[in-house]
Amino acid sequence: MEDKLESGSNLIANIRHEVYGGKVTFKNTSSHKFSEKDISIVTSLVRSNLSSLMMEDTDIRIDLTNASSLGVKTQGEAFTLGTNEHGVVQCGIFLKAKMLRDVLDDSGKADRRAIIELAELIAHELVHCKQYRENWLTVDKYGYSLWKGELQDAKGRYFDDIQYRKRPWEVMAFAAQKSLAKSAIQDLIGQSIISAEEGEYIPKTDAEKAAAALRAIRVAEREKKNGSAGLGFGADIK
Ligand SMILES: [Zn+2]
Repeated sequence: MEDKLESGSNLIANIRHEVYGGKVTFKNTSSHKFSEKDISIVTSLVRSNLSSLMMEDTDIRIDLTNASSLGVKTQGEAFTLGTNEHGVVQCGIFLKAKMLRDVLDDSGKADRRAIIELAELIAHELVHCKQYRENWLTVDKYGYSLWKGELQDAKGRYFDDIQYRKRPWEVMAFAAQKSLAKSAIQDLIGQSIISAEEGEYIPKTDAEKAAAALRAIRVAEREKKNGSAGLGFGADIK
């Protein structure tokens, strides 16, 4: 598994971060080169979430990908990598490289808004990793999603047929991402990776909330039109 994890991968500056009992590794298939500070930011965000989600023994692989690898609206996607030698599920997250590329400007200063978006995205996807790890979210041999062992909800609807945002695993991830991100950003500041000013966590204004709600409706409408969106567990949060 370890060989498979790293074969053909492009470890950034050969950085391999040890995180508590687990490991955070990076694979960069995007065309962008990331700095050590970029990698420190992601590692710290992951590490903080692993602690909050009580999954410090879980290995996480971060795949930084070009936009074309994920759906247009999808900024991230979680996937499982089987279990490690200790029997703990390993998880990977595809992150659209742009999400990280936008964080630091040329002088290495972090953009507050971009940090928040990245932190919420990572938190969202790590909630899905938690769901894989606890076997809450599984896929049967036919490719159907099961939530806590069930194919259908109490109303007899297949989970895969429910609107993306209303699937139980998405409801959980969206509900948790803001508080997880907030605490992870506080850790970034605490570790002096970014300044308090760079990491000031601003609640979304009403206007932004309204715009986000509108976008969510459009996404839901499109999914309805196109039928089930399939098995992507991506975060359609932008
Ligand atoms: Zn999701």
